[in-house]
Amino acid sequence: MRGARIAAVLLALAWAAAARAEPLKVVASFSILGDLVRQVGGERVSVAVLVGPNGDAHGFVPSPGDARTLSGARLVVVNGLGFEGWIDRLVKASGTKAPVVVASAGVTPIEEAQEGRAHAGHGHEAHALDPHAWQNVANAKRYVASIRDGLIGVDPEGRATYEARASAYLAELDALDAEVRRTVAAIPEARRRVITTHDAFGYFARAYGLRFIAPQGVSSQSEATARDVARIIRQVKRDRIPAVFLENVADPRLMLQIARESGAKAGGRIFSDALSEPGGPAPTYIEMMRNNLREFSAALAG
Ligand code: ZN
Repeated sequence: MRGARIAAVLLALAWAAAARAEPLKVVASFSILGDLVRQVGGERVSVAVLVGPNGDAHGFVPSPGDARTLSGARLVVVNGLGFEGWIDRLVKASGTKAPVVVASAGVTPIEEAQEGRAHAGHGHEAHALDPHAWQNVANAKRYVASIRDGLIGVDPEGRATYEARASAYLAELDALDAEVRRTVAAIPEARRRVITTHDAFGYFARAYGLRFIAPQGVSSQSEATARDVARIIRQVKRDRIPAVFLENVADPRLMLQIARESGAKAGGRIFSDALSEPGGPAPTYIEMMRNNLREFSAALAG
């Protein structure tokens, strides 16, 4: 009799522990944000990502399954700055009541450069914002703060965990920022110029002083015209730009053509808008930034 009562009490305790351990369902719009949420949330959260590894959020077309994923969310985390043009409709369609955290809140946005690109920003407003703010580590730190506050908002019991994890991760991001600066500083100044498919590195360029030229605008959905490509090939030759890079979210053919016709080196694969698969070269934000740095310095070092 007593044994059965103890067993019942133990069962009740186990039940309560299991209920507490049920992770908070968070939906992040794309893979890079998904990693940041995991870094801050740890085991208190389970993260679903709408646009997965190597996926292109610019041209994403949500499915009914994505609406179902959102409907079960306790928190939704998006980039903002016009990156997810499809998110408002999806949130509405899903019927979710979960708060939506805009990770880039507080970031100083860059306006899309319009110089000489008649078709840049096709489908955007005239003064579209550059959404790729995470390419500056200082901005990623703001993302982390937004995510931490968002998680505390829906799960106040986890405050201590979220604060501790965020502050440890922010320290890692400070180290990463210093590493980016050191690595770029080691590249001879005249060689700090690269070509990428779409204009995803504006924030990186401003923060760290590497110059990027891209035939497509800030959306990978814009078409580079034959004139854009010819102009870039002339520019690569004239300015002796050392290397072009292939992006994980873009068709490599355009870059290979530019390399072939300009004589620039085809550098390695860089990750602009999405992580790699787990086990790939860029499965987390920090590893993504390190991978890109390695590729830049390998192709550009004197
Ligand atoms: Zn992009």
